Amino acid sequence: TAAMASEKEAALAASPSDDSPTIFDKIINKQIPANIVYEDEHVLAFRDISPQAPTHILVIPKLRNGLTGISKAEEKHFEILGRLLYTAKIVAKQEGLDDGFRLVINDGPSGCQSVYHLHIHLLGGRQMNWPPG
Ligand code: C5P
Repeated sequence: TAAMASEKEAALAASPSDDSPTIFDKIINKQIPANIVYEDEHVLAFRDISPQAPTHILVIPKLRNGLTGISKAEEKHFEILGRLLYTAKIVAKQEGLDDGFRLVINDGPSGCQSVYHLHIHLLGGRQMNWPPG
């Protein structure tokens, strides 16, 4: 679809080494609106603007702290990484995804990452397929 093509184009155009602020900072700071479904001191979860499933939520750390992507993870990130996965589970439950769901982390151009602020995609509400595209 056109949306898929543009997402891939955005991913290929994005620069993995760029650690300047991303659009997600504006969402965290409430400078642009987002449909927030969960928030605490450390983690924010909001509906993806271009949903690929009936439920499509992004779970992100409020403080990026060098985590432009999962490939940049270090030991100092262990706690936030655990919080992100745990929050994804809490939000899946909140969304009623009792039959299952999928978590995805895209990394780098080949992984189709377009925003360089770590995020976990929570996808559900339809039957997923394997392999992913
Ligand atoms: O994994 P990837 O970096 O491609 O994911 C970025 C996601 O952020 C996309 O699914 C895109 O739709 C979403 N996005 C958003 N709101 C924005 C910009 C991007 O939900 N303002």
